Amino acid sequence: MYKKYQKGKEYSNIEVDLLSRFIKLPKLGKVKIRGFRTKDRIEGKILNATISREPTNKYYVSVAVVEDILIDKVTPTNIVGIDLGIKDLVITSDGIKYGNEKVLMKFEKRLKRLQRKLSRQVKGSKNYLKTKEKIARLYAKIKNYRKHYLNNIANEIVNEHDIIVTESLLVKDMFKDKRKAFNRSLSDACVSTLRSLIEWKCKIKGKIYYKINTYYPSSQICSRCGYKNSKLKDLSIREYECPKCGSHNDRDINASLNILLEGLKLHYNLVSLV
Ligand SMILES: [Zn+2]
Repeated sequence: MYKKYQKGKEYSNIEVDLLSRFIKLPKLGKVKIRGFRTKDRIEGKILNATISREPTNKYYVSVAVVEDILIDKVTPTNIVGIDLGIKDLVITSDGIKYGNEKVLMKFEKRLKRLQRKLSRQVKGSKNYLKTKEKIARLYAKIKNYRKHYLNNIANEIVNEHDIIVTESLLVKDMFKDKRKAFNRSLSDACVSTLRSLIEWKCKIKGKIYYKINTYYPSSQICSRCGYKNSKLKDLSIREYECPKCGSHNDRDINASLNILLEGLKLHYNLVSLV
């Protein structure tokens, strides 16, 4: 079942009561809801409601609301560059790393095992359906867990910084590593979700967000002297001494520092030198 109540006069009679915990929908009438606890009422004008059924047989309703918020633009006092990747999900130019959560990896391993099991079972059999339901439940669990984790990271980054810079796309050399192919799609999804979360949170908190060109070789350029070291295409090199200025660079932190520098150039309208 998938039903969308479109925007328009006809549907202006959607009502949400978060205290008594019900939603009133056209045609369906009053429906009990649960799970939403961070607000006690919805501000703004309700545009539409979308009902969806998850494979776990749970029904969800999402309500789109237009709200006028006055956002005070923050006068920036600091900036952070963020390198997004697979080994570590996030590396900031402050040197903080957020890994790919171990719990998530464990869930994903379990998921892979169940999928293998399913492929060996007779389609439509009782055990097949049982495994299928387990997979659906696990998917939902991973989705929720990931959402929560990414939200926390985005909150921390946006709360602590005024200008945030990331790369615009993730066409990273690390994707050439076939052994990581399994993690690839998952990390890819995490990275793009995280980027949109950061962008959105910057918008509502009056902070500044920049995306920089993806083809800029952020990990090959020394953030101190600008020397481009093409030997660094070899991904096994994680730390190195810059042959020109001798500074000791951590590959990933160096990349995020370069992203920060590109963001600064954008912010002050300076011409990029690379
Ligand atoms: Zn250097």
